Amino acid sequence: MRKIAFGYSTRCNVKCEHCVAADAAHDHAKMELAQAKALIVEMAEAQVRGISFTAGEPLLYIDDICQLVDLCRAHGIYTRVVSNSFWAKTPEQAESCTKKLKEHGLSQLRLSYSRWHQKNIARQNVLNAAQSCQKIGLDYFISFVTDFSEQDDAVERYLRDHNLKFFPEPVIYAGRAETIVHQPLRTDYQANCCPMNPYLAPSLDMYACCDAGSHFTRTNFFRLGNAKESGIEALFKKSETNPLYNHIRTIGMTDIASFIGFSAREIIGYRKCELCEIMFNSPAMLKKLQQKCSLELDSWHR
Ligand code: SF4
Ligand code: SF4
Repeated sequence: MRKIAFGYSTRCNVKCEHCVAADAAHDHAKMELAQAKALIVEMAEAQVRGISFTAGEPLLYIDDICQLVDLCRAHGIYTRVVSNSFWAKTPEQAESCTKKLKEHGLSQLRLSYSRWHQKNIARQNVLNAAQSCQKIGLDYFISFVTDFSEQDDAVERYLRDHNLKFFPEPVIYAGRAETIVHQPLRTDYQANCCPMNPYLAPSLDMYACCDAGSHFTRTNFFRLGNAKESGIEALFKKSETNPLYNHIRTIGMTDIASFIGFSAREIIGYRKCELCEIMFNSPAMLKKLQQKCSLELDSWHR
C-alpha cells in the first residue's frame, strides 16, 4: 500500500532539542493550500492510500489541515495528523479541536510525547488530548520518544498510570537531535529492515525516507526528485524500483553492512539510522554499494 508523510509546513510553535524534523534552512517553509490540494488529488490517482500530516506542527494550520483531511476522505485515503498537543491546555479546548478533526474525517491522531517535549508542552495537554479522543471516539496513539535512559521511566509511567495507548519510539539522532548526547547502545544482531515511507517536503522535494534519510545531504541518496517537476506517480515508482532501497526493505541494514565488510561487533553498536547514514551518506561507500548492488548483493549470503 502506498503511504506518504506529508509535510504541509515545517513551522512549529516550540523548539524541542530532540527534533528530527528541524532544519535550520527551512524553519518556516509552507506549501500553498491550493497546491497541497492538487497534490492530494494526484496522490489519490497514484493509488496512495495513507497520508500522515507531519513535519512541523500541522495544527498551527488547523483550518487548512481540516480541508486537506476532508479531501482525503473524499478519495478514500486514510489520514493521520501528528501533533504536539499545544491546543489541549484544558479538556474543553482539547475536545473542541478533536471534535473538529473528527467531523472532517480524520482517521487517527498521533500525539508526540517525550521528556524533551515536556520542556515546552505540559504533559497534561497530551493527557487532555488523549482523553478527548477516547471520549469522542477518535482513534489516537501516543508516540513516546525515548532514548531508553532511566530518566524516561517516570515519563513512561505517567502514560501507564493513565491507561493511555502509546508506542515507544527511539530518538533519531538527526536534525536538531544530532547534537544531543547519544546514549551508548548494544542492540541484538537484528535485521534492521526499514519500510521506508516517502516524505514530501513543503518545497515539494520528495524523499524515499521520512526520517533521518532526508538529512543525508552529502549524497542526497534518498532524494527522489521534485513533485512539481516529475509527478507523484513517477517518484513513487522510483522509490519502489531502486535496487538498494529494496535491499533496505527486504534484507535490512545489518546484512548490507555485513556484506560491505562491517564486523558483527561493530554492527551491534549502531542504531538503525546511524548504520544507514554511515553507508549511504558517504559518497565513497555509496558508490561501492551501487556498483556491487545488482551483481553481488542480490545473490549474497553469509
Ligand atoms: S519535535 Fe515536534 S513539537 Fe518538537 S519542535 Fe519538532 S515538530 Fe515541534
Ligand atoms: S534506517 Fe535509513 S531508510 Fe530507515 S528511517 Fe532510518 S534513515 Fe530512513
